Amino acid sequence: MPLSRRAFLSGTLAAAFAPRGQAWGDFHRAVGEIIVRPVIDGLWLRKINSRFVRNASFATVRRALAEASMPKDTLAMPIVPLLMESSGRRFLLDCGTGGQLTSTSLAQNLAAAGIRPDSIEAILVSNFHPDHIDGLKSAEDRPVFASAEVLVHEAEWNFWMDDGNLARAKPGQERTWFLNARRVFRGMKRVTKFTPGRELVPGITPLAAPGHTPGHVAYQITSGSEAMIALCDVTNHPALTARHPDWQPVVDMDGPRAVATRHRFLDQVSADRTTVHGYHFPYPAIGRIERRTTTGYEFVAAA
Ligand SMILES: [Zn+2]
Repeated sequence: MPLSRRAFLSGTLAAAFAPRGQAWGDFHRAVGEIIVRPVIDGLWLRKINSRFVRNASFATVRRALAEASMPKDTLAMPIVPLLMESSGRRFLLDCGTGGQLTSTSLAQNLAAAGIRPDSIEAILVSNFHPDHIDGLKSAEDRPVFASAEVLVHEAEWNFWMDDGNLARAKPGQERTWFLNARRVFRGMKRVTKFTPGRELVPGITPLAAPGHTPGHVAYQITSGSEAMIALCDVTNHPALTARHPDWQPVVDMDGPRAVATRHRFLDQVSADRTTVHGYHFPYPAIGRIERRTTTGYEFVAAA
């Protein structure tokens, strides 16, 4: 092999394909004075079956997967937390699975971008499902973001921490979610509860978006004349529940309520042409929602 080619392979290309410490896309966008940076936690290859969508036939669901070039019976679900930076302060919206469901993790990708976990001042949580909160703690059960205040919706906290609700939880997944939320928050000192509609940190306001979970929130990010909405789990992967907003996947704990919330948000952001972020949208997970006549809504990724 010619030297130049070998040098090329051992240098640039090898670095480009290095499995650890690899650079991520590092997409940035300014919302006024706030810089938003989606950071990949990973891709969760979730096997699904006929029970995944309560009110659609599995054949229809599989057709939607195929139309989105996804593997058969597998929902390829991106997990993309959002880093927000303004005036030298850093805030993080949700924090991934801690690498438990994905081949990479938010912590790895933050490190690759040179962002120290202790530089994050606050973590804004959208809901207590494991793929949003597990990244708060390391495998050794220690807080990953040592300096961060964790901001949670009071109603979400009260739902998951209520012993009666735990006792009534359906065995299996739902009970696991309860026990997991308690494990993650056990011993965590800096947790602050909020009610939606009030600005939490400069420019960032939680919006009530119940249905996916009882206390699920989206976030409005505003600076100067610019605004963006982080939809969080208002819709799961857009190929499923944006295109088919009436579908009720089992991850939406109150299906009809989640559908109503989804229509309310997607109607508004498509009519206003608001820039959105979606936690389970393909990277960069930022773009717009367009209303379509043939399907429900389409996610159009930012260029
Ligand atoms: Zn989720």
